Amino acid sequence: MSKRDYYEVLGIENNASKDEIKKAYRKLSKKYHPDINKEADAAEKFKEVKEAYEVLSDDQKRSHYDQFGHTDPNQGFGNGDFGGFGGFEDIFSTFFGGGSTRRRDPNAPRQGADLQYTMALEFEEAVFGKETVIEIPREETCDTCNGTGAKPGTKPETCSYCHGSGQLNTEQNTPFGKIVNRRVCNHCNGTGKMIKDKCRTCSGTGKVKKRRKINVKIPAGVDDGQQLRVSGQGEPGINGGPAGDLYVVFHVKEHEFFERDGDDIYCEIPITFSQAALGDEIEVPTLHGKVKLKVPAGTQTGTKFRLRGKGVPNVRGYGVGDQHILVKIVTPTKLTEKQKQLLREFSEISGSIPDEHNESFFDKMKRAFKGE
Ligand SMILES: [Zn+2]
Ligand SMILES: [Zn+2]
Repeated sequence: MSKRDYYEVLGIENNASKDEIKKAYRKLSKKYHPDINKEADAAEKFKEVKEAYEVLSDDQKRSHYDQFGHTDPNQGFGNGDFGGFGGFEDIFSTFFGGGSTRRRDPNAPRQGADLQYTMALEFEEAVFGKETVIEIPREETCDTCNGTGAKPGTKPETCSYCHGSGQLNTEQNTPFGKIVNRRVCNHCNGTGKMIKDKCRTCSGTGKVKKRRKINVKIPAGVDDGQQLRVSGQGEPGINGGPAGDLYVVFHVKEHEFFERDGDDIYCEIPITFSQAALGDEIEVPTLHGKVKLKVPAGTQTGTKFRLRGKGVPNVRGYGVGDQHILVKIVTPTKLTEKQKQLLREFSEISGSIPDEHNESFFDKMKRAFKGE
């Protein structure tokens, strides 16, 4: 079933202005409105007018219609006939909605690929940062041919299969009609160029693998899994495009006894029963050197202390974290006869339940076992 031309439907010229389109629509929609017009085909005509107006009043739809006629991409599939189109390009424009058909020019400048480098850091290196030189293998433009891939004195030629577009269209007949596929040209690998005399240095690729030394400044406070972008140190650009970036991903090794959570450091410090009972001043290791910590008399195992500003410098410069200390009272396992004797005496004078804290704890336990 052939559709009437939209301009014809509205009774206007092909170069009609927006105003003229609107006027024509107002006039005709009144004329054919089913509430007013009782003729049999009024509803059909009204629909036709409305559809014509919807397309012609929208700049984008109108220009598409001017180019391709009645080829609604949503209706295109399934009616089995793609006749009447110009070339393959037209079918693409129709099928894929027009917007996504911008051809990818193989000769257009493109940014080079990004590279990733994993760097192992000692715990302290991550905390305080460091400057280092890394060597990364990456592709660079071949000096012999300046990246063209052609032997010096010769030039790459336009690929005769894809005529320089880098893409080939293949046609396939299916029950739904002709389907056109676009694929990368296999004769030139999508470059659109053919090289007759290949450059010997790079075997025609235009690129050579080189190891490049790059200075990397690691900021203080980086953490495991974080990454640093070194702009412009990725693979070289294509056709004169900018180079890609290099991403350095940090893998931070664990510490013997410090644990890190964000900018805070956690560690466990063992103390003896007598230090805990009598109180003491102990030396505590921190990332910033040893610090004296006062353990008050009667300290229980599991007591936490905080050393302000002894943690990790924030990687964005927002201050420094803290160090948290968890005190653990160590029960001696190897006792001399004298120590044993003294502990027995201590036990006798203090009774089997040493203080209130424990008394209540034991009471609770007893109750729990009796089921009270
Ligand atoms: Zn070369
Ligand atoms: Zn080609």
